[in-house]
Parts: sequence; structure tokens; C-alpha cells
Amino acid sequence: MQKILVVATFNPHKLREILAILPELPPALRALSDFPGAEPAAEDGLTLEANAVKKALSAARFTGFWALADDTGLEVDALAGAPGVRSARYAGGNATHSENNAKLLSALGGLPPEKRLARFSTVMALASPRGELKISSGKLEGRITQGRRGLNGFGYDPVFEVGGGPRTLAEFSEAEKNLVSHRALALRGLLPELLRLFAAA
Ligand code: IMP
Repeated sequence: MQKILVVATFNPHKLREILAILPELPPALRALSDFPGAEPAAEDGLTLEANAVKKALSAARFTGFWALADDTGLEVDALAGAPGVRSARYAGGNATHSENNAKLLSALGGLPPEKRLARFSTVMALASPRGELKISSGKLEGRITQGRRGLNGFGYDPVFEVGGGPRTLAEFSEAEKNLVSHRALALRGLLPELLRLFAAA
């Protein structure tokens, strides 16, 4: 049985989020940043799945443990699915969340609410050092607001109204977001496999 699961991230927030979503996981999570010499994999794939698989496989091979990685994008119908896989760098290589949001609001101009449909999409990959792979995905439907609202969360949360509204994701508490989020759905899809791997750890 496995004892350690590596999360292919350098962001301690992601580790906490995974534990909050799946408290039933055994306490065996390590961030890739805990392993000396580890480096982030380049997110240069053409799809969310390609990036998630690449990050999970490289973390598993580097550490010798099963590894979990996710890649998320915001798909806006009126922009033919953009920014999608390029969500992190929509407004440029080192763009801040605020710059990305400003570019998105400006790209949608004065489009009415019914033409602002969008969704968050996450692909989560679980990989072993030998190259075994499990993949799961999750989506959260909503629409892009006319302006920013709310102080919680990160990224595009302040401009993403969940479902039929009225709140943006930045107006959800962390616990509420973890009940409905794209990342939570994708992660829960891997729960049977994670429990099988870690059952007796
Ligand atoms: P990553 O795949 O988690 O690195 O996410 C790519 C980009 O999508 C990030 O830079 C964020 O801007 C955005 N993003 C990912 N997850 C969320 C979320 O839960 N809410 C808002 N924006 C997100």
C-alpha cells in the first residue's frame, strides 16, 4: 500500500484545499516543493488534460510516489472557449489575476448576461512512477459578470457568477466553494482510486 501522495504543486494553498475537499484521505500528502531539487513542469500542453498528465507524471517519476496534478481553465462561450488552457497567462506571461480579469471584462464589452455564459473546467490526473494514469474532470457552469464582486477566492472568482446567480465565486465562502467547485468535482472523481491505493496506509 502507498504511504505518500505527492501533490504536484508549489502552492501550499492547493494542499490545504485538497484536504478540505477530501478529509477522508489519509494524512499522507506532500507538496512537490517538499522534495529538494524538484521543479515545476512547464504548462505548455494544448489541453488541460495534457498539462495535468504531464505535471502528475513528472512529479511521480521525480519523487518515486504516486502524484496528483490538476489544470484548470475558464471557458467563455462568446470567446470561443478562451482563455481556456491559457487562463493563467491570458493578459500576458506574468499577468496578475487582476490584469486577467480586466482583459476578460473588456473583451466581453457590453454583451448582455445571456451572451456571457462560461464555465470553469478542471482536469485532475493521478500518476504512478511506472506511468499508470487515472484522469477525472469537473466543471462549474456560470456567467461572466459586468464587474468584479466579492473578496474571497482567487483568480477569476470575482467575475464568475455561479449558475443562475446572484453570487460570484468570490462571494462564496471557502467551504461553500469546495462543495460545488470544478476542482472539488474532479478530485471526488478520483476518490475511489485514492482510497484503494491508500486504504491500508
Ligand atoms: P491552475 O491550473 O490551477 O494553475 O489555474 C490556471 C488559472 O486559472 C489560474 O491562474 C487562475 O487564474 C484560474 N483559476 C484556476 N482555478 C480557479 C478558481 O477556482 N477560481 C478562479 N480562477 C481559477
